[in-house]
Amino acid sequence: MRFGYTETCLDHDTGTRHPETADRLRAIRRGLAKKYGVEYVDAEPASVEAVEAVHDPEYVEEVREFCAEGGGNWDPDTVAVEATWDAALASAGLAQWAAEAALSGDDGRETPFSLGRPPGHHAVSDDAMGFCFFNNAAVAAQATLDAGTTESVAIFDWDVHHGNGTQEIFEDRGDVLYLSIHEQGLYPGTGEGDETGEGPGEGTTLNAPLVAGADDADYRHALDRLIVPALARFDPDLLIVSAGFDAHRHDPISRMRVSTDGYGSFTLALREFSEETDIPLAFVLEGGYGLDTLSDGVAMVHEVFDGHEPLEPDGEPTDATRDLVDELRERHGLGS
Ligand SMILES: [Zn+2]
Repeated sequence: MRFGYTETCLDHDTGTRHPETADRLRAIRRGLAKKYGVEYVDAEPASVEAVEAVHDPEYVEEVREFCAEGGGNWDPDTVAVEATWDAALASAGLAQWAAEAALSGDDGRETPFSLGRPPGHHAVSDDAMGFCFFNNAAVAAQATLDAGTTESVAIFDWDVHHGNGTQEIFEDRGDVLYLSIHEQGLYPGTGEGDETGEGPGEGTTLNAPLVAGADDADYRHALDRLIVPALARFDPDLLIVSAGFDAHRHDPISRMRVSTDGYGSFTLALREFSEETDIPLAFVLEGGYGLDTLSDGVAMVHEVFDGHEPLEPDGEPTDATRDLVDELRERHGLGS
């Protein structure tokens, strides 16, 4: 794969007791150092205008001033230092690069994956939260729409947390489909199945809140029966994956039971979908807080694009997952 990476993202210093640290990127780089076919690409930071296309200008200015004054605790979870401003713009710029690279034809072994931090999917239009300042995937999606290189974009979010920010930014928009599989009841508490979008965006938000303990088979069932059919029907010009790795069974902050091969299996399903439909595919890093499981997960995504066949889930989805997926298929008109 081609990985978007810049050292500027290491300078967002969250302190020694925070799970979202620069060591996450260092661990990913160490994991990828052992793999063939890894290419790193630097990218221009996002412009303030690109960020303001999805965030309120007053909020963006607030972040700039907060960082310029040295930062601190924006909220109990979300901390900044002076360098966070540049890191946040760099992180959004890397996501923009990934989207543009996919649209310019980078696929297969050259599929783009932006390794930015701070992450983005909790950042709403007028506030930072959940370790996120600017919504990187949203900035990237909107930039392609504004440039006219896409007319519609889908964002599939497999981070264990619901991407409330991405949902909020696009919930009243018919040109962006937001789909999420996440752990029900976990932070930030949003993402119920009946949140389906508003106004012109009615039907373009699809939430699959799986119960705690879900494993590869549950995820694959939701992916195959819900996410992929909804993507196929929407037929976007670009698919961005908000790729967090915190649903891993050994991640410290969730109760899901996804394996490293599970992430490979999800990647394979999306790679095959992209190949069959010719829909460009880009990955944007979100969460993932076990350094080993995070680096193994990213390396697994890379290996699947390098031709590796991951182990397919051998178990069966639970009745709870089947029932949820059936209910959501009906709600979204995907058949029963
Ligand atoms: Zn997360």
